[in-house]
Amino acid sequence: MSIKKLDKAALDKWVEACIKKQRVYGVQAKEDRFAFAPLAKAADLRLDYDVTILPPKKYFQPQCETLLKFDRQKGFESVFDDEPFVVFGVHPYDMVAIRQTDKLFADGQYDAHYMKRREQATIVVSDVQTASKDVFAGCMGTATINDGFDVLVTKVEGDYLVDIRTPKGELLAASISNAPDADAMSLKLRKLVWADNIEMLQKHKLDIRPDILPELLGRSYDHPVWEERAELCYSCGSCNLVCPTCYCFDVRDEVDWSLQKGERRRVWDGCLLNDFAAVAGGHNFRRNRADRFRHRYYRKGKYIPEKIGEIACVGCGRCITACTAKIANPVEVYNSLVHERK
Ligand code: SF4
Ligand code: SF4
Repeated sequence: MSIKKLDKAALDKWVEACIKKQRVYGVQAKEDRFAFAPLAKAADLRLDYDVTILPPKKYFQPQCETLLKFDRQKGFESVFDDEPFVVFGVHPYDMVAIRQTDKLFADGQYDAHYMKRREQATIVVSDVQTASKDVFAGCMGTATINDGFDVLVTKVEGDYLVDIRTPKGELLAASISNAPDADAMSLKLRKLVWADNIEMLQKHKLDIRPDILPELLGRSYDHPVWEERAELCYSCGSCNLVCPTCYCFDVRDEVDWSLQKGERRRVWDGCLLNDFAAVAGGHNFRRNRADRFRHRYYRKGKYIPEKIGEIACVGCGRCITACTAKIANPVEVYNSLVHERK
């Protein structure tokens, strides 16, 4: 594959060419914040954004999706979204989250609906240009990324290095195949951007190495921090909804009034919500707020790492910003386990 060097005009021209060919989602300004949305023109794309309100997972696991349609006469038919699309401007930490979800949805019970969308997607990662106020990806080893994406764009002194890594990326970059290759000096400067980003994306400092978290949590189940923080929790689930590594869902059957046909849909769910662990008979395995609060941190720092070998918090900082009770900061929670031993 190759690494091309484009000036801003050439980058815009390339983005326009991509938009002409297929569905493109890109980061755009929404009042004073940023969001991934359908991209109509290159001028709307903001690669200098700090963080998006929702992570790009919404394109692989939509908030609400139809899994199948059923009909008493005709039986049922699975529904798949198989139109190719491009997601432009994904930050490295969000790409790490997508890579983790890929593993989780391919492992054990293969999730054909998620995997179909992943097959159809071409992902253009963009190295971070502006740190958000709560990001701590630099502590989690996710401030930069070296694989899993199709194309990586890095701004280097006013130009853009476009690193094409996969056949899908090559197809997307066909219109810039004649652009000059990145020179040795630009590649050196790109390494400096990466080193700077590791430092810059540490607005909160984790006091231990992330790979120690499973062991730390292994001996912190009865720590008072769970009760103390959960006392202020509204069980609103905002921390779940904005998290790029949360992927839990609920499945519901919506039956037509005729009772002859309907749809099976899945919708996002969140482990902080009161009825997340509710089952038939009025039982609830995590009725207590503190149990739900603790469960979230155990998922991120112990249970999922034990499954896939990676910490399931990429340090995007979205939950910190989204929590109106100001209790969801994972760095504060984990640091309190380190420093305030029960
Ligand atoms: S737990 Fe918070 S900081 Fe970590 S990935 Fe989820 S939203 Fe981002
Ligand atoms: S966002 Fe804060 S208040 Fe809401 S459920 Fe999460 S921890 Fe609780």
